[in-house]
Amino acid sequence: MDGRKIRMVDEMRPIERFHAVMEKNPVDRIPVAPVTQTGTVDLMEASGAYWPEAHKDAEKMVKLGWAAYEVAGLEGVRIPFYIYAEAEACGAELTKWKKDNHPVLKKAAVSTLEDIDRLEVPDPHRDGRMPQILEATRILAPRCRKEKIPLILTVIGPTALSLNAGMTDSMYSMVWFKRNPEEMEKLMRKCLEIGLVYAEALIDAGADTILYNGAFDAGIAPADYEKMPLRYNREGVRKIKELGAYVIYHSCMDIRRVFPQLLKLEAHAISLSQEMDMAEARAIAGEDTVLAGNVDPTYTLIKKSPEEVIEECKYCIDAGSDILCPGCGFGPKTPLENMKAMVEAGKKYGHNARLAKR
Ligand SMILES: [Zn+2]
Repeated sequence: MDGRKIRMVDEMRPIERFHAVMEKNPVDRIPVAPVTQTGTVDLMEASGAYWPEAHKDAEKMVKLGWAAYEVAGLEGVRIPFYIYAEAEACGAELTKWKKDNHPVLKKAAVSTLEDIDRLEVPDPHRDGRMPQILEATRILAPRCRKEKIPLILTVIGPTALSLNAGMTDSMYSMVWFKRNPEEMEKLMRKCLEIGLVYAEALIDAGADTILYNGAFDAGIAPADYEKMPLRYNREGVRKIKELGAYVIYHSCMDIRRVFPQLLKLEAHAISLSQEMDMAEARAIAGEDTVLAGNVDPTYTLIKKSPEEVIEECKYCIDAGSDILCPGCGFGPKTPLENMKAMVEAGKKYGHNARLAKR
């Protein structure tokens, strides 16, 4: 024992705890919040709202999103369950819609350099599935306020959207990034605008936190990142903060190379993918950065026992995580008992978290 008092009864409501962490204030224990996607087959069965309908229909999106809180016990609600809202609103097409897997890109919104000039900023109240996501947000917002839990929505950052996420196919966008920087900058600027228009609509509808997805940042060399991506991602973070939301920046894959650059984005928190070690990230980030993560959702949460999930959660907490959550999104085949084990770990060991009151 380290002599700290163990409190088994929570002193703070989930929203107070979550916002306190964002403000780097002391908390009673670590929050266990859904910052990445939460749709799983077990929660679909519990809620009666299945993919692919829950990607497309507001009522079903609400039911499945709510189940992460009500059934699994996660301390918040997070919708939607995919990363293609912006791209679909710009004309991208998806295929292979399944109950137990993510849809696959069939046709990107931008396939040629000429498409960049034709690309228009979508109207979130009219285009693609954005209206359904906004409707689900409006339904969930008062419910989350009543339960005192955060409502987390997601927007794709300008780098990730211009290089991937259904807007382009990374097979050719990475070539453009090297060979056609002026065209790529035009696209990145437009992607920034698309994200900001969408973020404003989500915040108006009641989102209190935006998970700003930088899914493809790991693929960029640090020297390149210092040019366009840093500027546009930082502007995006700043403007969403000005709209009144908390911003968590998420990057998939091993972001070791550009991690120092991500610290310059000045998001309220950084959500780490599972490939980066939490202790190493904390050592680089220092004490002044809020880190979220990063239990492995592809192996630990799917294949291991609840006891082993709790062990890995304990490691993340002790290594310096401020928000306990998976690295990337929950895999659809995550057993419910492992989601619950993560919540249990937060309640049991969360008093050891960095920001917990001593
Ligand atoms: Zn990810």
